[in-house]
Amino acid sequence: MSVHATNSNAPKNKHRKIGVLLGSVTLLASLLTIPPAAAEQGAMEIPTTGVVTGTPNGYCGSGNSHGGFDIAAPTGTNVRAAASGKVVQVGYQSRSGNLVDVEHAGGYKSRYFHLSAQSVKTGQTVTKGQVVGKVGSTGNSTGPHLHFQIERYGSVIRDAALNRTMTCGNRVQAGTAMNWGFPGLPRTGGTTPPSNPSVSYPTLRSGSSGAAVKDLQARLKAAGRYSDAIDGKFGPNTLNAVKAFQRSVGLTADGVVGPRTWGALIARDLNGTTLKSGQDSNQVKILQRSLNAFLGSGLTVDGKFGPATQTAVKKYQSSRGLSADGVVGAKTISAMKRGA
Ligand SMILES: [Zn+2]
Repeated sequence: MSVHATNSNAPKNKHRKIGVLLGSVTLLASLLTIPPAAAEQGAMEIPTTGVVTGTPNGYCGSGNSHGGFDIAAPTGTNVRAAASGKVVQVGYQSRSGNLVDVEHAGGYKSRYFHLSAQSVKTGQTVTKGQVVGKVGSTGNSTGPHLHFQIERYGSVIRDAALNRTMTCGNRVQAGTAMNWGFPGLPRTGGTTPPSNPSVSYPTLRSGSSGAAVKDLQARLKAAGRYSDAIDGKFGPNTLNAVKAFQRSVGLTADGVVGPRTWGALIARDLNGTTLKSGQDSNQVKILQRSLNAFLGSGLTVDGKFGPATQTAVKKYQSSRGLSADGVVGAKTISAMKRGA
């Protein structure tokens, strides 16, 4: 389950064909309108940046039995927690090499094998994206790579839908949301699953890519902080734009797009209208997206200000030291726009 080959003997033209194919798919995808929901999916994120050489359905090329994803990457590349949780094992096994296991809500466990370094301790809690170790080639391995395995209640997850994101020969980026739902796994690492598990705003940073980054870039552009291409790649220009936006609203300019930065970017679209129970409008949709970003509320974005939205508003208000009256007036809107 942990043998891996970077397959440097493979015919080069085969790799070239894969590249051309991926290029066409990327071009096609960039021509399509990505719905806002695309940025709201994925409770787990890809843990490292590299090339997929194995999937839970088999090693790429041979199809031999394999229990996880192999991502080939240089030794020392950061390995990040796919979701928030608790470290339940930091150890060594002859096949898996140096390993880290992280337990998540909903019965999930993510496992990271063949590490050259382990950066966490058993019993420690980790947040999504936190470095847990470095890529290596320890144990039964023929080249530096991460073996990344997802289990639920002890069974390896082999869901075919996972392969929409992680396919043989594809280059993947750490921090990209896996475009797949994990039932019962919360967005933000709490213990209570949200009412609608398909809604989230993944933490984005340099190196992230995908639909959520496109959504981010479009919002930064609308905010007048970004003038480059909406290409879904979080590079230096996106980083500068994020920092400039964070500075402009008074947030710490760390360049990492977490709940407060997402929330402030979304709340920009609130026009100042007071929002309250019983209303049904596009402004309520923006409010619901903001609350999902700030709190991981898991609200359905339907524009209807019902009891669930009101509860989330009160939770936001009380956690920010505002009067928790459930009515979104000037003070609440101002706090949201500041990313408070
Ligand atoms: Zn493997």
